[in-house]
Amino acid sequence: MSIIVSKFGGSSLADGNQFRKVKEILLSDNRRKFIIPSAPGKRNSKDFKITDLLYLCQAHIESSIPLDDVFNLISNRYKAIVYELDLSLDIDIYLNEIKKDIENGASKEYAASRGEYLNGIILANYLDFKFIDAKDVIIFNKYGSLDNEATYKALKNTLSNYEKAVIPGFYGCDPLGNIVTFSRGGSDITGALVAASMNADLYENWTDVSGFLMADPKIVENPMQIKKITYRELRELSYMGASVLHEDSVFPVRNAGIPINIKNTNLPSDPGTLIVKDMEPDYNNPIKGIAGKKDFTVISIEKAMMNSELGFCRKVLSILEQNCVSFENMPSGIDTVCVVISDSQLNNKIDILVDEIKRACNPDSIVVHPNMALIATVGNGMSSNKGIATKIFSSLSDSNINIRMIDQGSSEINILIGIENDDFEKGINSIYKAFI
Ligand code: ASP
Repeated sequence: MSIIVSKFGGSSLADGNQFRKVKEILLSDNRRKFIIPSAPGKRNSKDFKITDLLYLCQAHIESSIPLDDVFNLISNRYKAIVYELDLSLDIDIYLNEIKKDIENGASKEYAASRGEYLNGIILANYLDFKFIDAKDVIIFNKYGSLDNEATYKALKNTLSNYEKAVIPGFYGCDPLGNIVTFSRGGSDITGALVAASMNADLYENWTDVSGFLMADPKIVENPMQIKKITYRELRELSYMGASVLHEDSVFPVRNAGIPINIKNTNLPSDPGTLIVKDMEPDYNNPIKGIAGKKDFTVISIEKAMMNSELGFCRKVLSILEQNCVSFENMPSGIDTVCVVISDSQLNNKIDILVDEIKRACNPDSIVVHPNMALIATVGNGMSSNKGIATKIFSSLSDSNINIRMIDQGSSEINILIGIENDDFEKGINSIYKAFI
């Protein structure tokens, strides 16, 4: 019998009505055996996320301010869910204990993890599935990093005893019994670990959108949905800002070759986006998506005979390293090299970098181009397919956009271009229209 692991995000479990949708989804396919809930998210744009409120409770205690008002918001939310679902569960016992723990100085991570813990208890009760506390199966080492081996072993040993179970997302435990959380959005990682350890056939990630769109809907009007994409393509797009999944959640399932299906709890019949290890390139639709980011600075260095000067690039990169600046990209020509740096990394260090590069490398010229945007056009149908680059470049030139930098990764699934920040939205729209 095949196994599906289903993770539900905060908006999918924000109130009783959402819980009902989740139950219907789970009961509609008996293969959905292991369920990972997030903490309740926002019910509308003015609402609060429970995890944010829990962090706030802990911060109140740290500053010796009573937490009652904030904690009441949390209690009321969970009580309302239990009431709406007509459960006989006594949620007050759990709420009182958590409140006391936070008041007595429990850690920030413990406080934050209780959102998932409580939602897990309620969901397991509502579904009549076994509740498994993530502290017993998601194992961190004493340095706070995930202990993969111990986690896989604990998950396998425990979950194989149950036909169906709920495991709260986002947290685990270290060898001293301290609760440790992943970074924000980390329930995705718990879901991926459960899927990989149980060798699931599919990892479903249920959220409030029907998967990935070909471009940011804030920039392109009504962009098409991506039906199927490879892990590699997704990595390129998410690196450039397209996000639905926590980045670290991809690796466990990718290594195990398990596909991920991003699905919409509010539109369950929508196929969503399927993320797979490999797929045949579609030469008729070579582009999967277009994503990008603004605010980069490019340092453009020129020196005659650079190509034959041993260690030139090493010297440039060491200067970045010594100044704790990481770079995004480094396209090069015969006698030129450009270093693309995100402004968030740069922290006003540009003058120091330029100065040090001048001293160490003695270039013929060094020019700084600020206010650059990068746009990635991604798709495995690009490889061995003629005319894709031409189409991108002509569309930009037709829109009167000057291209400052071009880089095509050796995998041939991504063409990266650098343009002025001001041309960013126009550039994404031009490329989108050229292909769709
Ligand atoms: N509840 C946590 C957060 O808000 C984790 C998650 O939702 O995945 O970040």
